[in-house]
Amino acid sequence: MKEPVAHGQVELWRRALAVIPGGVNSPVRSFHGVGSTPFFAARGEGPFLWDTEGRRYIDYVLSWGPLILGHAPTAVISALAEQIGRGTSYGAPTAVEVELAERIVRLMPAVEVVRLVNSGTEATMSALRLARAVTGREKLLKFTGCYHGHADAFLVSAGSGVATLGLPDSPGVTRGAAGDTVVVPFNDLDAVRDAFQRQGDGLAAVFVEPVIGNAGLIEPLDGFLEELRKITQQYGALLVFDEVMTGFRVALGGAQARYRVTPDLTSIGKVIGGGLPVGAYGGRRELMEQVAPAGPVYQAGTLSGNPLATVAGNAQLAWLEVHDPFARLEELAEKVSHGIAAAVRAAGIPAVGTAVGSMFGVFFREELPRSFEEVKTSDVKAFARFHRGMLERGVFLAPSPFEAGFVSTVHGEEEVATTLAAAVEAAQEAAQG
Ligand SMILES: *Cc1c(COP(=O)(O)O)cnc(C)c1O
Repeated sequence: MKEPVAHGQVELWRRALAVIPGGVNSPVRSFHGVGSTPFFAARGEGPFLWDTEGRRYIDYVLSWGPLILGHAPTAVISALAEQIGRGTSYGAPTAVEVELAERIVRLMPAVEVVRLVNSGTEATMSALRLARAVTGREKLLKFTGCYHGHADAFLVSAGSGVATLGLPDSPGVTRGAAGDTVVVPFNDLDAVRDAFQRQGDGLAAVFVEPVIGNAGLIEPLDGFLEELRKITQQYGALLVFDEVMTGFRVALGGAQARYRVTPDLTSIGKVIGGGLPVGAYGGRRELMEQVAPAGPVYQAGTLSGNPLATVAGNAQLAWLEVHDPFARLEELAEKVSHGIAAAVRAAGIPAVGTAVGSMFGVFFREELPRSFEEVKTSDVKAFARFHRGMLERGVFLAPSPFEAGFVSTVHGEEEVATTLAAAVEAAQEAAQG
């Protein structure tokens, strides 16, 4: 293997490893998935990210989703500058948090009432508590490859094929927590029906990323989301769309607007915070009014609805609402993903690309995957070599073959051309092994 691209940042990496587990504050940032070490970011502007050595990258990670207007957009930065002179947190209600809630309710069809929290993890975890409270049931059903944050009940995957009772994915998750979670493959309605037939009266909710963005990018097959809506209704379980990634990414109103399926509850995050820590969960009024202090389901947060985070989110969502850039973003994301896949295929490695709104996926396999089980058959070694070649040429793709990519409103034709030229060279290198 060649020197890691982090060469020159070796000292910083050594310091990080000494005081932070694995050197990073979130595992996805380590370059484990591509057998390398991360670079340290120093600055972002528009579609670019610079590392501490002054190297510039075209950024398709965008803080793992939030930065749909690119780095340091004027609208967000000036809103933050204006707010910060007035203080960072009050512990009392603010007009700006009401404004963000109003905006989310206006734009997301299934959200009538919304509670702001600090992360996507908090959002899904709280939605699960609420679903359990209103149904009086304890189990949940999720799909392999869907990530719903790191709360215990969600850290479960399972063998493929039939519905199985989950086993913990991580030490520290109790068998009890894992045992409440039923896991089935995405896009497999027979497995969902089977799970409901066997234990439908115990299932509080189905949690789903309506478009999976945490196992590459996997689209729901025609009718899949609609059928989940019907089955959950039939058995009295809630349907929860985890739109932490897809919200304001695949369409202005999220996947629920794009696919016209109305979930009972929705979790969001990422884009609604403009790069600051925000999450939210919302849904039908009578469900959300069970949340304290309107109702008995307790959930709280010292910094929830933080003014800096909410002004940043407001600025970003206001821009999206005025410009509705999603058709152009999808065109761009298609160019990037199909272009990269074509370059990789031309070098003799199987590859296929796809895009939904501003999210894209490139898979090192013959066909688009329908589930995580299929994603796992990708050529991960070739991807690791390709990733390194792209990074060396100034293109930052997510350091894992199992992650979606993102474009922003400030990525343009020039960045795409540079990216695809780099892809041709990186693919040839990757093919040589
Ligand atoms: C990122 C993500 C989460 C977790 O959000 P955090 O803010 O990282 O806690 C949950 N669900 C989905 C679909 C995500 O993409």
